[in-house]
Amino acid sequence: PTTVERIAAGEVVERPASVVKELVENSLDAEAGRVSVGVESGGTESIRVSDDGLGMDEDALRRAIEQHTTSKIRTIDDLEGGLATLGFRGEALHAIGAVSRMTITSRPREGASSGAEITVEGGDVGAVRPAGCPVGTTVEVEDLFYNVPARRKYLAQDATEFAHVNSVVTAYALANPDVAVTLEHDGREIFATAGRGNLTETVLDVYGREVAEAMIEIDGGALPDGPLESVSGLVSHPETNRASREYLSTYVNGRFVTADAVRDAVLDAYEGQLASDRYPFAVLFVEVNPALVDVNVHPRKMDVRFADSEGVSEQITAAVEDALRREGG
Ligand code: ADP
Ligand code: MG
Repeated sequence: PTTVERIAAGEVVERPASVVKELVENSLDAEAGRVSVGVESGGTESIRVSDDGLGMDEDALRRAIEQHTTSKIRTIDDLEGGLATLGFRGEALHAIGAVSRMTITSRPREGASSGAEITVEGGDVGAVRPAGCPVGTTVEVEDLFYNVPARRKYLAQDATEFAHVNSVVTAYALANPDVAVTLEHDGREIFATAGRGNLTETVLDVYGREVAEAMIEIDGGALPDGPLESVSGLVSHPETNRASREYLSTYVNGRFVTADAVRDAVLDAYEGQLASDRYPFAVLFVEVNPALVDVNVHPRKMDVRFADSEGVSEQITAAVEDALRREGG
């Protein structure tokens, strides 16, 4: 790839976790009921995401890796809000293929008795070949940044890269309790959710019994007036929780995001209640009028900013405090 293409790729792909994020979003957009993620060496050696979603035929496979092609924008209305799908810029697969060796194997749900695959190596696109595979899509990404040594050198230790991968996959698993999500690292299963559609059960599958039993449900009815239409989810009991690091998964209008206003508001609600080596644990879903939130702070789309972040913080702190109070926290 050219220098410009490499820089563009770097905007989408910062580390293995950003590849995982894009691939998992694509699987969810493709209506998968099962998404399996496996990485080797924190994702620096290989990343494999497979799903049982809609799949692609040969033409769609070829188009999928062209730049700025997306099957997801149909009308100008789609662009101006109300986007139902997670991806809409059509550059993730192109960017990942520019900085790795990537193979996509796919078979559409309808109208094909076998599958096809295509390989991209450092931006060089190979021919589409027939491949035997089940319905759905598997994307395998090897040797990320092998052709961008400056980036490769910048990657952290495998354990750190894996921690980022883990939090991304965890976040999507929690936001999609009706999808069976599995995560493996170096061949070892980290978690597997059942996909039965229940948040508490999904928390149990991901974090184990001790954490799940310490969770308190937020009562949406107690929300004071403000920019947020609703706040729901689970927060940890300050006394029974065992979290030795911060686990905050926050979702704005169904998107997994980070927002300082949300994080600070949750921490505020726990003020003075946690032992010094304990951290809050929360899975929080907030709904807000899309006009009041900027989701395009950064092309990686993880960070959002609210028009009235003080109002947002007040509502979240109140909702979490109410939950903790109800449980005598
Ligand atoms: P975007 O998601 O923004 O459209 P991507 O580069 O991530 O762009 O993907 C390009 C296209 O490839 C998608 O629009 C979709 O049509 C197709 N695609 C990618 N991943 C999958 C998948 N797992 N299942 C089915 N189709 C997929
Ligand atoms: Mg995408």
